[in-house]
Amino acid sequence: MLIVVKPQATPAEIEAICARIAQQGYKAHRIPGESRLAIGITGNDGALRASDYTALPGVLEAIPVTKSYKLAGRDFKPTNTVFDVGPVRFGGGSFVVIAGPCAVESEDQTLRIARAVKARGAQVLRGGAYKPRTSPYSFQGLAEEGLKILAKARQETGMPVITEAMDLDSLEKVFEYADIIQIGARNMQNYSLLAAVGRLNKPVMLKRGLSATLEEWLMAAEYILSGGNDKVILCERGIRSFDKNTRNLLDLTAVAMMKDFSHLPVIVDPSHGTGRRDKVAPLSKAALAVGADGIMVEVHDRPQEALSDGPQALLPDEFGELCRKLKQLEAALQA
Ligand code: PEP
Ligand code: MN
Repeated sequence: MLIVVKPQATPAEIEAICARIAQQGYKAHRIPGESRLAIGITGNDGALRASDYTALPGVLEAIPVTKSYKLAGRDFKPTNTVFDVGPVRFGGGSFVVIAGPCAVESEDQTLRIARAVKARGAQVLRGGAYKPRTSPYSFQGLAEEGLKILAKARQETGMPVITEAMDLDSLEKVFEYADIIQIGARNMQNYSLLAAVGRLNKPVMLKRGLSATLEEWLMAAEYILSGGNDKVILCERGIRSFDKNTRNLLDLTAVAMMKDFSHLPVIVDPSHGTGRRDKVAPLSKAALAVGADGIMVEVHDRPQEALSDGPQALLPDEFGELCRKLKQLEAALQA
């Protein structure tokens, strides 16, 4: 249920509405809009009666919301969610470019790549310190040492950093160092991890699960939002398909759909989405054209030596060329 408050409602009336909701055992979420305040109700199992609320002073109307996702949906919040991470604005209409290596491999490697991507147009630095690898024998990441390297790269380049928290232990460390906490595809339905990042006051990028439906993805976002953390970015990173020419099937239809269903910013990861260096640039342009709020791409200056995902990493100059093309395309689309 969504309660729309009258423009002239007093603070005491608004308090009383929230108190009534709490008294029923539900949670009230204040959702400020451009011209009015709304109060979303969550925590109810069955349908609520609109008349229970329309009778309260200060209530303009009570709108039933039948979708399973509430806080993530446009019924609750029609306007786009916009927030800043340091100097970078997400969801505000300008296309954000996140770039960096798949994994932090060493201080030298990360600083080299950080400088290279910054000089060519990256706004946020990515790099995994805790790596979810298919094989337990593959490089697992440098853990806290990797986080310290990312902090150094941030200090030198001024770019905010995004890095993955794989579990509750790594989350504690990632929270200390990162500007954006990444929840990886394999953890999209790790509900205790989602609830934990929901309690934090730090932006979260939630990657789509390997075979998650859009509703499952939105419900995962709902876990974070319902804990009180409203800074959530969705990231489409490709889904499992029957065709093996690409690592995954980058679902750009999902981006177009999510922009309808949700007010949250949507980022596209064409690196994991295709697994192929030669397809990262075309799919990045497609992401911009379909209405995504940005991309996250893997870049490595020595991809043949990379400890993970070398075949999908752009070379710095390829990345620079892509950024140039994206700027032109962005201007053309706005014209
Ligand atoms: C990553 O971005 O480093 C990553 C591991 O991606 P995903 O969780 O989408 O596989
Ligand atoms: Mn990777």
